[in-house]
Amino acid sequence: MRAVIVHEYGGTETLRVEDVPIPEPGANQVRVRVEASGVNFIDLYQLRGWYKVKLPHALGLEAGGVVDAVGSGVTDFRAGDRVACASAPGTYGEYTIAPAARVVPLPDDLDTKTATALMSQGITAHAMALGAFPLRPERVALIHAGAGGVGLLLTQIAKRAGARVITTVSTEAKAALSRAAGADDVIVYSQVDFEPEVRRLTGGAGVHVVYDSVGKDTFDRSLNVLRPRGTLVLFGQASGAVPPFDVQVLNQKGGLFLTRPSMGHYTATRDELLARARDVFAWVADGSLTVRVERTYPLEETGHALADLESRKTTGKLLVLP
Ligand code: NDP
Repeated sequence: MRAVIVHEYGGTETLRVEDVPIPEPGANQVRVRVEASGVNFIDLYQLRGWYKVKLPHALGLEAGGVVDAVGSGVTDFRAGDRVACASAPGTYGEYTIAPAARVVPLPDDLDTKTATALMSQGITAHAMALGAFPLRPERVALIHAGAGGVGLLLTQIAKRAGARVITTVSTEAKAALSRAAGADDVIVYSQVDFEPEVRRLTGGAGVHVVYDSVGKDTFDRSLNVLRPRGTLVLFGQASGAVPPFDVQVLNQKGGLFLTRPSMGHYTATRDELLARARDVFAWVADGSLTVRVERTYPLEETGHALADLESRKTTGKLLVLP
């Protein structure tokens, strides 16, 4: 089969498609014939060596497709089942092996591309808005990268929970998308510094929570726009890793809370994973959650897709179709 294998850490231009043997599922694993692979920042973090992986490494973690073989001990799935997964190493390929416990069955009325687009970004958005800092009416949230893949979904889920949502984006075109997703106020940060603007928009009070996936470039100012006892949910580092941090700052700025969650912490059990997936699938089915798949790429253009994600020009989800 064809697959994208990383032999040494490097840039997106180094990625090549290779012929490799079709992998066999081990105990409690399923083999999935991949129809769509989700393009994610974690692929970039692994490719660049920011997150260490064992080399050579089959790149890609998120896929949707059809079960084609099952290993011993698998009782929940059989060949022919439509499924998706956000933790199946090697999804930029024609087949991937996934741990059965992390695989989600797809409802008949949900197409595979949409389901794939939801597995990482949708379930993360659900986990951040309803798990890491549970939103409800009267809560004011600031969401960075409001027109990004997670950002558009997180905004919609936050509005659904009744919160007031302020977002930051880099361009007017992204601002229009963020508003369409339900943001109450959108700050085009290339024109206005978000720190004084959030203060102005909240009458000086600050926000209850900042959902920050940008990291290095926004971290300090995200802390500055929190109200006393507010929470910074730092769930990504699109601009780079936040340097070592003096916890005394949390005291000085008002007894703040800081958490650095991953989707995995909020899908720790199979029941929790399935419950979050069921919610986002149901909201898409009833039309209350919109998924934006911006572009698809052939497998040979996986490097191109990752470069586009990194370029900050994309909105919504990018998929590779092997
Ligand atoms: P996005 O579509 O949000 O793309 C990233 C966006 O971040 C850009 O479009 C850009 O928006 C903004 N950005 C600001 N500064 C930079 C920079 N220096 N380089 C690149 N982008 C920048 O991506 P995703 O929705 O796929 O992911 C968003 C974040 O969520 C990532 O950090 C990712 O790691 C994280 N994530 C975390 C998970 C977890 O389990 N913790 C799971 C899934 C995603 P703008 O132009 O508006 O500034």
